[in-house]
Amino acid sequence: MRLLLISCFLYISFSAKASQIALIIDDMGNNEKDAMAFTLPSNVTFAILPNKHLSKIFSKRATAQQREVILHMPMESLAGNNQEKNVLLSNMPPTQIVKMLKIALSTVPDAVGVNNHMGSRLTQLTLPMSVTMEFLSEQGLFFVDSRTTRYTKAEAIAKKNGVLSAKRNVFIDHIPSSEQIDKQFHRLLSLSKKHGYAVGIAHPYPQTLEYLKVHLQTLQKHGIELVKLSDVLSSGSTYAYHSNTKSQPISPAPKFQSSMKSKSR
Ligand SMILES: [Zn+2]
Repeated sequence: MRLLLISCFLYISFSAKASQIALIIDDMGNNEKDAMAFTLPSNVTFAILPNKHLSKIFSKRATAQQREVILHMPMESLAGNNQEKNVLLSNMPPTQIVKMLKIALSTVPDAVGVNNHMGSRLTQLTLPMSVTMEFLSEQGLFFVDSRTTRYTKAEAIAKKNGVLSAKRNVFIDHIPSSEQIDKQFHRLLSLSKKHGYAVGIAHPYPQTLEYLKVHLQTLQKHGIELVKLSDVLSSGSTYAYHSNTKSQPISPAPKFQSSMKSKSR
């Protein structure tokens, strides 16, 4: 009986705490139209692309709203197409990676963290990820792994370097149809209920922004709280969620990695 009472009490106190979601709008700064996202609640984080004419303007404007800003750093993808000009590549020496991160950060001056734009190749590679995380650790910036491949090592390497981190659990608008957006948004809610929190990434597509504007207002009804990204960071292990998105491990490892490995600590 006593045990039952205790477990009832534990259950009630546990369920009294609202589940949390953190939401990131990626790819900000590509387009003047992205400015529509500024009407979203200020707990929604903006991941701003560097080296764009809107990068600094969006960074300042978001910060004036008390909104968290992160640098959306372009990283090499497996396909290697549609890449940004100033993308981190797997054949770059560590000094070049650091130089490009510094330049990128100077164009998103209010960034308190970083997440990857693309990066299905680069985030699988130990050396460039270690260089990146060492730099973020020195700068006191956190990292969110966008998980563009299930073989990413980014979050594990962030933790190894003492960088506070999180990972994306759900892409809201990977397929930007209204049915899929609704389905993915509800997946985000159910994951947050199951695990206590969940991190979603969306894009500044008009249909996504319209959807979010309406549905973020209904969170309270679901017992869910929209929190800032920095509220769900962790230095310990976080839960993984794999969707059915196709990705592939790099095999064999690119040449530069094996030759550099012997030199690394
Ligand atoms: Zn992106």
